[in-house]
Amino acid sequence: MYDVLIIGAGVIGCAVARQIAQYEGKVAVLDKAGDVSEGASKANSGIVHAGYDATPGSEKARLNVKGAAMYPQLCRQLGLPYGQPGALVLAFDEADRAAIQALEAQSRVNEVAGCRVIERDEVLAMEPNVNPAVVCALHVPTSGLVSPYELTHALANAAAAGGVEFQLETEVTGIEQIEGGWALHTNRGVLYTRAFVNCAGVYGGVLHNMISTRPVRIIPRRGQYYLLDRDEHLPFGMTMFQVPTKMGKGVLISPTTHGNLLIGPTAEDIEDGGDVTTTADGLADVLSKAALTWPDISTRSVITNFSGIRAHEAGGDFIIGTVEGAGEGAFEAIGIESPGLTAAPAIGEELGTWVAYFLQLPKKRYMRDVPPMPKAFSHMSPGEREAAYLKDPEYGRIVCRCETVTEAEVRQAIRQPVGARTLDGVKRRTRAGMGRCQGGFCSPRVVQILCEELGMKPEEVTKFGGGSWLLAGTLDSMGTEDGSHGE
Ligand SMILES: Cc1cc2nc3c(=O)[nH]c(=O)nc-3n(C[C@H](O)[C@H](O)[C@H](O)COP(=O)(O)OP(=O)(O)OC[C@H]3O[C@@H](n4cnc5c(N)ncnc54)[C@H](O)[C@@H]3O)c2cc1C
Repeated sequence: MYDVLIIGAGVIGCAVARQIAQYEGKVAVLDKAGDVSEGASKANSGIVHAGYDATPGSEKARLNVKGAAMYPQLCRQLGLPYGQPGALVLAFDEADRAAIQALEAQSRVNEVAGCRVIERDEVLAMEPNVNPAVVCALHVPTSGLVSPYELTHALANAAAAGGVEFQLETEVTGIEQIEGGWALHTNRGVLYTRAFVNCAGVYGGVLHNMISTRPVRIIPRRGQYYLLDRDEHLPFGMTMFQVPTKMGKGVLISPTTHGNLLIGPTAEDIEDGGDVTTTADGLADVLSKAALTWPDISTRSVITNFSGIRAHEAGGDFIIGTVEGAGEGAFEAIGIESPGLTAAPAIGEELGTWVAYFLQLPKKRYMRDVPPMPKAFSHMSPGEREAAYLKDPEYGRIVCRCETVTEAEVRQAIRQPVGARTLDGVKRRTRAGMGRCQGGFCSPRVVQILCEELGMKPEEVTKFGGGSWLLAGTLDSMGTEDGSHGE
């Protein structure tokens, strides 16, 4: 019998797990995917929103502002990159000025510091590549940047170091109340628990509706992006927003924590919460909207496109707490669309404490913290590189040339408490495969290292779990007697 089972290893589930790890108890995180951070938490804008645009009085507004304030210390603790370049919300005609002024007023109600309306000349002095047709903007100095999947991995590692189990490729298919707790039916059998927390992202509504007397509707809302190559001279230093619409924050152009440029997302309501395809129409829409901000927009250095799915709850706010109408011990955090990444530290702290309090779990007297993530080789000074190499010669072998990732780092990623098991798992933990060749050169070497570390055969290695195998077999096993390919 578990004390707590957390369904979903996205940024929310992992933040909740890290908080509950501070208490005595038997806790596990279940995810149907082959790794943590395979849902919305790996495919979003990575903005730590300041909180000016959330409806005052909503859970979104409260947890956005609280979560954003937690970020600098959290990232320092976990050894993650965090930047606070600020943002501009741009108005391109006088009709939008009123919207910008309303956002400024709202920022004060939501207690977001430092937002002010600035005029055209100041906008262009700050960001000379903005469309000169700009009229005015809201300057948001506290808007931040984080790497969403690196954060999720770090939260998972911290939880695992505190004793939380991670059971991946474990899909919850049914929830049943039993005496003293719950039975969670999964593809790997039934798990029993005193309490559970539904953090299943876009599928959170399906699980909620199995047991609640108040049904919810979670609408999958897809966002498609362009990712441009790293550049020391990005056209924008801050995140460039346009005036928000009823579908969300609109198309943005933003640097990332690793010096790429991100352009997107679309906001398309779709049927299938797993449909992360990108489409020609969606990407064309992104480009035409982004061109208003940046008339010289160029796709010359695009290295990939991707999409993520928001879990939009029809009522428009986060739903956090006990599941309405279900028995005791059923908790949830659903409808966690943007600013969910920003709010994650606050949601994790509040919901995790709530669950521990409900179960009367004693607080641990001693908490083993994971050491912060080691500095990436690509960010080390020449002296630091030499010292790292002398300690571990595998720092001397570069696996990914685009992102300067070493063999030592790939092996460390596999050996983390919740370590990489797939090619994408290595990519998101080390950046090997994130660069301009998108893994063209490093993938075979990463496959080889995964095999060495995990005792796998190359044909067992997948891109992201399930049936996403990379290799069909060896030439011997597939070919004709003379070793040729045959068909
Ligand atoms: C396009 C886009 C842009 C965004 N931009 C920002 C931004 O800039 N700033 C910001 O603050 N927020 C942003 N967000 C929102 C943010 O990404 C989400 O709020 C956050 O990632 C939600 O995390 P989660 O853990 O709830 O969901 P997810 O990361 O989706 O995790 C849910 C997990 O549950 C698992 N799961 C589902 N069903 C089951 C089941 N039955 N059994 C077991 N496991 C299951 C899934 O595999 C998944 O891993 C954006 C979102 C999108 C899509």
